[in-house]
Amino acid sequence: MIIILKPSATKKEAKEIIGQIESLGLKPLFMPGTERTVLGAIGDERVIASLHLESHPLVERITPILTPYKLVSRELHPKNSVVKIGSVPVGGKRFIVIAGPCAVENREQMLSTAQAVKESGAHCLRGGAYKPRSSPYSFQGLGVKGLHILNDATEKTGLPAVTEVVEAGDVATVARWAAAFQVGARNMQNFRLLTKLGQSRKPVILKRGMAASVEDLLLAAEYIMSEGNQNVILCERGIRTFETATRNTLDLNSIPYIKQHSHLPVIVDPSHGTGVRDYVAPMAKAAVACGADGILIEVHIDPKTALSDGHQSLNPEQFTVLMKELRPFVEAAGRKL
Ligand code: PEP
Ligand code: MN
Repeated sequence: MIIILKPSATKKEAKEIIGQIESLGLKPLFMPGTERTVLGAIGDERVIASLHLESHPLVERITPILTPYKLVSRELHPKNSVVKIGSVPVGGKRFIVIAGPCAVENREQMLSTAQAVKESGAHCLRGGAYKPRSSPYSFQGLGVKGLHILNDATEKTGLPAVTEVVEAGDVATVARWAAAFQVGARNMQNFRLLTKLGQSRKPVILKRGMAASVEDLLLAAEYIMSEGNQNVILCERGIRTFETATRNTLDLNSIPYIKQHSHLPVIVDPSHGTGVRDYVAPMAKAAVACGADGILIEVHIDPKTALSDGHQSLNPEQFTVLMKELRPFVEAAGRKL
């Protein structure tokens, strides 16, 4: 519920209403504005109704939040949110490029890839230490050792790093070594993990599940935000459809939809979205055009030896070309690279 107070309502009076909302076990929101204060009450609509706020003398009007997700919704938060990964703002004027290998494989591979993407102008690093693989026989990642290497790559390049967390019990360890968490497609509805990440204040890149609707994605983000962590970045990475020509179908329709319905930043992963190296650059440009705030790209120092996702990874030269080719698209979209 959105509660718009009369211009005459004081801060003290607003706090009294917040107290009433809280006493019923609802989550209150306080949004002071230049002309009037807006409050929010999140929770069971029947409990909210029992407050009879529509007849409160300081309340101008109340409007229900119609979407099933509340904190994620633009109804409650009309302005775009900017989420910082380390010192890098995602969701502002700059189009953000997060690049690196699918997995941290060894020190030399991670550090040399990190150095290469930095030189080409990437803003953040990626690299998985915990790899949720479809097959139990595939490389599962280096675990904590991988996190240490990733942190060394950050120290060497100054680029903040994003890495996947696959279970609630690893959240504290991952938070210690990385600037942002990634929740992978296979874990988008791991609600215990989302709840745990909601208790952190580190940013979370939440990837769309391969069989999840956009609404499912927005509700998964609501799990994180309802625990208090407002630093959520959504990521479109393609979905499974009847089309088998590419690994996934990169649903770029979701970007303008998300932008219309949510204030959260949203990025595109054209590497997993296509699964084919040659299609990564065209779809990265399409991501700029459809209004995404950035891209997540797999780059490997030597893709043919990669332990995972080599077929969709760019080599450093291809990444350099992509960064050059992206610039006019980013400028045409009124943004900076
Ligand atoms: C990844 O980023 O390497 C990854 C596993 O992605 P997704 O969860 O989108 O498949
Ligand atoms: Mn990958």
